Amino acid sequence: MGSKAKQKLPKSGQESKPLSQLLQVPAGPVSLAGFDPSATPGYVGKGKADAAGRTADLGAELSRLQEMLFANGRNDPVSAPKVLLVLQGMDTSGKGGVVRHVMGLVDPQGVALASFKAPSAIERKHHYLWRIRQALPQAGSIGVFDRSHYEDVLVVRVENLVDEAVWEKRYEEINRFEQRLVASGTKVVKCMLQVSFAEQKARLAARLDDPTKYWKYNPSDVDARAKWPAYQEAYEALLERCNTEAAPWHVVPSDRKWYRNWAIAELLRESLAGLDLSWPKPGYDLAVERDRVAKS
Ligand code: AMP
Ligand code: MG
Repeated sequence: MGSKAKQKLPKSGQESKPLSQLLQVPAGPVSLAGFDPSATPGYVGKGKADAAGRTADLGAELSRLQEMLFANGRNDPVSAPKVLLVLQGMDTSGKGGVVRHVMGLVDPQGVALASFKAPSAIERKHHYLWRIRQALPQAGSIGVFDRSHYEDVLVVRVENLVDEAVWEKRYEEINRFEQRLVASGTKVVKCMLQVSFAEQKARLAARLDDPTKYWKYNPSDVDARAKWPAYQEAYEALLERCNTEAAPWHVVPSDRKWYRNWAIAELLRESLAGLDLSWPKPGYDLAVERDRVAKS
């Protein structure tokens, strides 16, 4: 853990607030035009040049904290805390990249990933939160949602998949759902990965230029892109209406992939550190067991 001191304090003159505060959406009306997707708030390094190293350093601490969370879950499978990272963002914003880079920093057995696509026939028979509830993290683990219940006030709203009267009620319903989740011991970390319209175009074009990226391209991404203003408006609505004290929203500038990966790793590290965990005490008599091992 030799890297701990290095990343702990920013250099003098730099922001010293926790990143979660720097990226948290202020209460009140939200205009995404006021957020710069190429900004790098809270990053005190040299930029792309040292981001991979800093993120890897962060990974060591993240991994230690995650193992402690996992150990607490083993010790108390009923009431140990859980963490839920909710990732939302337009196509190419890097939800998959975050899963690969950030979740790759910790032990896979402590992480549960759920990717939400258009609902299946079975899912459509249930309430929209049904599939979400099934995927919530267990005690001691970190759940990662690649898209989430927020699609039910995003694509559903933009594409008129249900009546306005139906999606309109969902904001409050989501707030109540998340409040209960938090009250039952889940730390909820909501991140909107913000890319600019121009950067999305560059990333889509890059996918069509590289045979190893063809699979990432979906012709329907361009249809969604054509509705960019409507999606931005739908994002602004949820960032304003579901930005609760229990589960606030963060906007993560995502035009620079190195910043996005570092920022999510740091947000996760802060959340885990905030749980104030310690290593569980043994549920057996240490002296007796040491003696038994010695004699075995
Ligand atoms: P991707 O994440 O790029 O694999 O795409 C998943 C697709 O599923 C996106 O086009 C989402 O808009 C869509 N999707 C996710 N959740 C829902 C939902 N609740 N209703 C309709 N479409 C959804
Ligand atoms: Mg996609």
